Amino acid sequence: MPNTAQYNGHNGTHITLPVEGMTCASCSARIERQLSKLDGIETAAVNLAAETADVQFDPARVSADDIKRTIEKTGFSVPERTIKLSVEGMTCASCVARVEKAVAKLPGVSAVSVNLASETAHVTSSVVSAADIVRAIEKTGYTARLDEDVEAFGAADEAKAAVRLRHDLINLAIATAFTTPLWAQMLWNVFGLDGMLPGWVQLALASAVQFGAGYRFYGPAYKALRAGSGNMDLLVVLGTTAAWMLSAWRVLWPMADGQGHLYFEASATVITLILFGRFLESRAKRGTTGAIRALMKLRPETARVLSADGTEVELPASSVKSGDVVVIRPGERVPVDGEVIEGRSSMDESLLTGESLPVSKNVGDGVTGGAINGNGLVHVRATRVGQASTLAGIIQLIQNAQSSKAPVQKLVDKIASVFVPIVVAIALLTWIGWTLAGFGWEVGLINAVTVLVIACPCALGLATPTAIMVGTGVAAKHGILIKDAEALEHAQKVDTVVFDKTGTLTKGALQVVSVNPVVGDDLTLLAVAASVQHGSEHPIARAIMAAVGDGNLATVSDFTAHPGKGVEGHVDGRIILIGNRTLMHEHAIDTAHHEDEAQGFENHGNTVVWVAERGHGLLGFIAVGDVAKETAPAAVAGLQALGIRTVMLTGDNRRTAEAMAGRLGLSDVIAEVLPDGKSGEVARLQADGRVVAMVGDGVNDAPALAQADVGIAMGTGTDVAMHTAGITLMRGAPELVAGALDVSRATVSKIRQNLFWAFFYNVIALPLAAGGFLSPAIAGAAMALSSVSVVTNSLLLKRWKTGEGA
Ligand code: ADP
Ligand code: MG
Repeated sequence: MPNTAQYNGHNGTHITLPVEGMTCASCSARIERQLSKLDGIETAAVNLAAETADVQFDPARVSADDIKRTIEKTGFSVPERTIKLSVEGMTCASCVARVEKAVAKLPGVSAVSVNLASETAHVTSSVVSAADIVRAIEKTGYTARLDEDVEAFGAADEAKAAVRLRHDLINLAIATAFTTPLWAQMLWNVFGLDGMLPGWVQLALASAVQFGAGYRFYGPAYKALRAGSGNMDLLVVLGTTAAWMLSAWRVLWPMADGQGHLYFEASATVITLILFGRFLESRAKRGTTGAIRALMKLRPETARVLSADGTEVELPASSVKSGDVVVIRPGERVPVDGEVIEGRSSMDESLLTGESLPVSKNVGDGVTGGAINGNGLVHVRATRVGQASTLAGIIQLIQNAQSSKAPVQKLVDKIASVFVPIVVAIALLTWIGWTLAGFGWEVGLINAVTVLVIACPCALGLATPTAIMVGTGVAAKHGILIKDAEALEHAQKVDTVVFDKTGTLTKGALQVVSVNPVVGDDLTLLAVAASVQHGSEHPIARAIMAAVGDGNLATVSDFTAHPGKGVEGHVDGRIILIGNRTLMHEHAIDTAHHEDEAQGFENHGNTVVWVAERGHGLLGFIAVGDVAKETAPAAVAGLQALGIRTVMLTGDNRRTAEAMAGRLGLSDVIAEVLPDGKSGEVARLQADGRVVAMVGDGVNDAPALAQADVGIAMGTGTDVAMHTAGITLMRGAPELVAGALDVSRATVSKIRQNLFWAFFYNVIALPLAAGGFLSPAIAGAAMALSSVSVVTNSLLLKRWKTGEGA
């Protein structure tokens, strides 16, 4: 089972670097292109919306520093942050050196300082996760703990984003203030009033906008130019500077017949509108990461830990160790994953599992960090803390999903990267064309400016990642964890859902329904069966043992499990066989005299477990029953309403399976399949051209889950160790299967809509601009509008709910 914080891929090392300064899809494509030119890079995926670069590389051939430098050379910055850790167990200066050396070797670490006296380490790095730093220190033999862990990281990002947003707002306000008089004079003009400002006043106002508020476009534009490529800022700078220069030239060197037309309002408007668009965009982009921020806020800052003498000590939640006993009062948030060892309560786990009803917790039950305690006071022994906790796992999973790149995005990025040079070429052609056609070079220039301004590929770059971020976020809110963009794309194509029977459609808590001895009485038969089943983990075994209760069981020796058939063991010198017909017939045990009765139970959906003694024949049979989950019939009906074929796959016998499938309304049954035959059955469906989702509990169904186009692991809400599955359901609710497929469909259709509009917009707008039908100011407005509408369209996905059509 892969660890969520594991950063070593099978081929090389994987790092996620934050990247600042990307404004459009051509930027992300450019970074990817430059990175892939480096020797030793296996894959590089840059996400515009998440502002990250995911790089898989061979550390022997290229270093994280090289990667960072390449991104910076391409014209972007890789911000660093300092992580504070406490390190225990260092006794001397040489320990300090050892820790420092180990950490400094990590990819992406640029500075490390370890302080022996305060037992802390400060590590400056661009690598997003700090888990590998902890691991590196622990490998040298010391204990390390993050002082600022998941939440603190989130908070730092949060604060930075807020500052950036405020700067954007101030900048926008300045631009608007200086542009308004320019707009006003145009307006008066429209009403026939002659309110034109003197040229030098216009020059002053426009220059303030151009080089004050618009200053920020020049740096990135210059960097892009130096790197031999183009970006959106370059288009803006070229366009607006051209308009500004033309007008400034006219003010400073007026023509004999007066000043001629000035285009200051155009250059200033474009800048103001683009700033406005970016402001809205970054505000909306923050909305796309809302799901993660909500989860990060779940874990409380502090925990009350019971010390050895029985007193309660309040500690930072991050310093609770596994094994500590934590006291949780009514209404408090659970700080760690753990097991209730005292008290009883009910807990609201809705933010983790999407389950709105409180779940009751008694001694022995597991609790999950982030849940809200109900009315009881409980003592919980911590089992998983920090990066190993369920909450950290969920956050990591969603973060990975959100930064993963949909296959279609690669194509989009490729298009975007050739976009800028093509646009510049079209702009030049426009200029030359209008000049040659006799309209004068100035008209040509203004039309060229319009082309430059309108063609920014911003919306194109935001179309896919914003939809994925919102889609995976809203899914998580409902308890559906989607691993990556690929799972999303596959899930929306699914036309067949295969359910493992036990535990997914049924509750999986089997009960003995009837005991039918051939020799002896009920209790003797149950006792013999239970003695053998003692060695089994199967739900049938648990049912039989539960029926005997705490009664004395004989010891079993030579226990053998026959997967998919039953078990065998020696009890009191007798060889006992327990299992299905196949097992009985394999040992030549005749069941014929009891078939009528047995099949009656099977026709009611019960499973018949035969008990026999080798050499003596049948001892009797036990019927065990499982109950369907209440929501299972509706869940199946929901899938069928979506046009999806539903299949039950089970090792149980045909009659039992068909009875249960009939009750639940499934269209097909594949029964009597041995455990290792399940993935073969999935493959057979796929060979028929079906796109298959397999729903299982993720443990013994792992091969079938992996074989399916989409593996859907149904968790219990406390176990997210199921990362092999493309989709993990945080609670055992079968209706979430339709929900998962539906949210995937909704997200992918959002992506298509976004891409369509982004392309459509450029295809329509470019010829209009070149043809002189638009003005630079209108182009600026349209540009801003297109990115904002794409992001807003993605945000509409937030309204998605389970049980609703796309
Ligand atoms: P599934 O997971 O699809 O319900 P399994 O492969 O676990 O099916 O089991 C298939 C069948 O094998 C069961 O229905 C039962 O008849 C028999 N079997 C498996 N394990 C046991 C057991 N421990 N005791 C009795 N019967 C068993
Ligand atoms: Mg099973």
